[in-house]
Amino acid sequence: MKIDLHSHTTYSDGQLTVEQLLMRALNYQVDVLAITDHDCVDALPVAEKWLANNNSKKKPLTLVGGVEISTKWHSFEIHIIGLDVQFDSDVLKQRLQTQKVKRIERAQKICNKLEALGFSGVFEESIGLNAFDLEQGAISRAHIANVLVKRNIVSTFQQAFSQYLGKNKKAYVKPNWIEVDEAIKWIHEANGKAVIAHPFHYDMTTKWLRRLASDFANWGGDGMEVKHPNLDKKTCELMCTIATENGLTASAGSDFHGPSRWTELGKNIVLPETVKPTWTTFENVVIED
Ligand code: AMP
Ligand code: MN
Ligand code: MN
Ligand code: MN
Repeated sequence: MKIDLHSHTTYSDGQLTVEQLLMRALNYQVDVLAITDHDCVDALPVAEKWLANNNSKKKPLTLVGGVEISTKWHSFEIHIIGLDVQFDSDVLKQRLQTQKVKRIERAQKICNKLEALGFSGVFEESIGLNAFDLEQGAISRAHIANVLVKRNIVSTFQQAFSQYLGKNKKAYVKPNWIEVDEAIKWIHEANGKAVIAHPFHYDMTTKWLRRLASDFANWGGDGMEVKHPNLDKKTCELMCTIATENGLTASAGSDFHGPSRWTELGKNIVLPETVKPTWTTFENVVIED
């Protein structure tokens, strides 16, 4: 079984449209795919509709409702994934709307800083370049990074973060995300499971990571990602230990943003046998291995 519980579309900072992403998942014979756009569930009804007409008869793809919510915890920006959420929940959509507004306001502030540095019109261009719909999707720093690359202000996407957009860099604007326990509440009230996204990407000591997992479990959080296509074995084992210590289930996903050399949908994300997979606790979508 290929189960991939973390992916993005053009409704946030993914490069593929919903249709392109689903076609790719079918081509790569993915069995279960969660679409987890940043602070946004707008891709999911579109995906559900597309699959109703185009799913494979031989090896159908199961869609899982998901979202990746930006939160703050101490001085860190932590991403919390909601899985198996009811994406038609009006309450969830209203709540995510407040995050989308914060995203637009932050993007404008970042672009004001860029303007002061001599680069004007980046906000408008980032919307145009990405054919972005402010009414629906969630804008992110990735959209701004694309403009900086296109204008040759930086030579790579990563450099846009290391020079301008990353924490405390030249055009950085501190976000004002919700707290982790609030995100857990939003996810639970949409009948989903709350999972810490990519805990190995936060540039945090193991001591802080254990503190995060412990706080998260105490707030009623359900799981954490312990596997990523590029994660080394030792770190994966540490993640599994921390999850188990705190009674958290284990999730895995490619965090697919688009075709690249490093990640592919459903690839290299099989969970070790020692952990309890998050998807065995889903209540809305039943997944049989
Ligand atoms: P935002 O959600 O607006 O904070 O934008 C961050 C997004 O940019 C992440 O979800 C990643 O997909 C992407 N990204 C790529 N490289 C970096 C980086 N070095 N630091 C932060 N975000 C990055
Ligand atoms: Mn992203
Ligand atoms: Mn993330
Ligand atoms: Mn992600």
